[in-house]
Amino acid sequence: MPLPKRQLSPLIRKYLRVSRPAQAAARGLGELKPVEPAARREGAPLLGDDQVYVMKYGTDFHTAWCQVVADNWDRGPRGLLVTLFVDVGARTRCTECNRHAKAARASAAQEYHLQPRPTPDPAPPDAVIPLKVMGLAHGILFLAAGQEYRERLKETAVERATPLYVDGRRDGMVVRLDCARDEPLLVVQMDPRATFRNGPYQVRLRHPLRRSAAKPYAVESVESVESVEPAP
Ligand SMILES: [Zn+2]
Repeated sequence: MPLPKRQLSPLIRKYLRVSRPAQAAARGLGELKPVEPAARREGAPLLGDDQVYVMKYGTDFHTAWCQVVADNWDRGPRGLLVTLFVDVGARTRCTECNRHAKAARASAAQEYHLQPRPTPDPAPPDAVIPLKVMGLAHGILFLAAGQEYRERLKETAVERATPLYVDGRRDGMVVRLDCARDEPLLVVQMDPRATFRNGPYQVRLRHPLRRSAAKPYAVESVESVESVEPAP
């Protein structure tokens, strides 16, 4: 169901701005040809034998989940792409990945694994906050919470690979939580194949996965709140 046409607020337009200089810098390296990763683990793409990581505006390619890749994923999962090794063009291999490959050969180490995540503590009280749809543009969904939740959401972080669920299906990824306005805004990158569902949503909170986290809460997931099916 399409949303009614409306003017995008300046706040929303801010999120849609594309970084032109960065785009220009990546030119001349060869066209980016993203492919589906061989697998995903908690949302993070995992490489197949012939695949490498590239950054949307980067000049390197990566053969492992190195610190550079991990940092980029934390900053903005959308900027991290997977491509075939044969399509890296003029991009150069990341020095950290080079070091990693040498170390791996030396120790005959097996495949590089993501750090296992600790089991989270039980959810904090008031762990579910209702959300309403503010707009959808260019695959970005904007959901607002009531201002009574602002203080709680100010203490909430968005960790990497935080999912948006519709009917239990993963339809997108939460990329940002903005508490600068009275009604805090959750920004969600929709999966390109997902069909947008208008209606109520909710955000589920939990304790952060990292003990060193700066904020006491983190977003567990955002979900479409299913309407109750009438009994047959
Ligand atoms: Zn690397």
